[in-house]
Amino acid sequence: MHSAGDFPQILPSLRLPCHRETTFFAVLITSLKNAASTGILSGKECIFKHCKEKLQLMVSGISSQKLRTENNLKIPRLLDDVLNGHRLTEAEALTLLNTKGREIWTIAAAADVMREQKNGDPVTFVRNQNLNITNNCINTCGFCSFTRKSGDKDLFCLDEITIKEKVAEAKAREVTEICSVSGLHPEFTAQSYIDFLTWIHETAPEIHIHANNPMEVFYGAKNSNISSLEMLRRMKDAGLGSLCGTAAEILVDDIRKIICPGKIDTETWERIIREAHSLDIRTTATIMYGHIDSPEDQTSHLRLIRDIQDDTGGFTEFVPLSFIHYNTPIYLDGTAQPGATGREDLLMIAVSRLFLDNIDNIQVSWVKYGLKLAQLALMAGGNDLGGTMFEESISREAGAENTEYLDPSEMKRMAEDIGRRLQERTTLYEFI
Ligand code: SF4
Repeated sequence: MHSAGDFPQILPSLRLPCHRETTFFAVLITSLKNAASTGILSGKECIFKHCKEKLQLMVSGISSQKLRTENNLKIPRLLDDVLNGHRLTEAEALTLLNTKGREIWTIAAAADVMREQKNGDPVTFVRNQNLNITNNCINTCGFCSFTRKSGDKDLFCLDEITIKEKVAEAKAREVTEICSVSGLHPEFTAQSYIDFLTWIHETAPEIHIHANNPMEVFYGAKNSNISSLEMLRRMKDAGLGSLCGTAAEILVDDIRKIICPGKIDTETWERIIREAHSLDIRTTATIMYGHIDSPEDQTSHLRLIRDIQDDTGGFTEFVPLSFIHYNTPIYLDGTAQPGATGREDLLMIAVSRLFLDNIDNIQVSWVKYGLKLAQLALMAGGNDLGGTMFEESISREAGAENTEYLDPSEMKRMAEDIGRRLQERTTLYEFI
């Protein structure tokens, strides 16, 4: 706490730019005039009281600006080091995520250089179709608008005939991937998941099945009293091509307890992912950010993903998923903020690219970002646009617009407009 007598000491230490000094003294003089005009305040200490709040605000604003400036001066050197092989620490990643001002573009540009070094020019995409088998779910995750309960009028659970019809449709659309995640139906067992995979695989053996996530693996295994490792083995035998790295949200248990208390904890998510990799089942890795999470939570999540990849090499890609807030319970009850800002989205893509030096592909989800921000994110470290997404519904239910299908001709326009080329790929990133 400063006293009035401290001012002469504070002022030189602030080293204010000229315009800030002018503002500082303008506030001081106005406050003194106001104090005098009240007729109540007199004497040095009373005048100081009147000025104190405004001065403290200015001092704290100036201090944080000073700190920011100091950090921002270090950023070009840090980025230079990263491009020359330095591995970002969590603390350094945090500095980058907290950056404001034009240095954001410096970070994005460095991430773009790293993308170019790793991936070259192609902007990749996969021709895929979603297949959500049911929205009936025992969980009530606070960020989910997709879940329904028994008795809800728009509850659905697809039967064998409908699943096969949808797969036949996907085949006719020449997709190379079916992406399938679902609610945790109260009656699902391990066999339910095996059946779904079998029906899909029998109908279209040439289509890669990218399905389920560690939560669903855990749930099916638990309901059938088998281990998650055994569950994964059976799923692979039934036709599972790769496992979705969703249900990760933020891999920090204090946050998970608030946004998805019914979900597996961080340790279980990590264990099942490592088990999948040990069976040569590749997975994606995701982060869902922009709700109640902090940059510290985000860097902790990134570090865990990088550690797993160091050990297993099993992740095909990292997919930042920006929280779509509109219809979600945690936004509607005031718990969560209304999603990430554009600055936060761009920095998440860029910092993911710079931090995850062992993951080749950083996906930009056009469903979460919208086409214009997605295009900018392709210049901030992203190299992949995800899928065509026939029949997307999870983000749509949360309030995202235009999520159903993105034609490759539109992706081509986005890529060529920034001087790159569009390249179709398989789920496992082989070029087609
Ligand atoms: S996110 Fe998944 S587990 Fe959670 S409520 Fe929605 S459907 Fe259920």
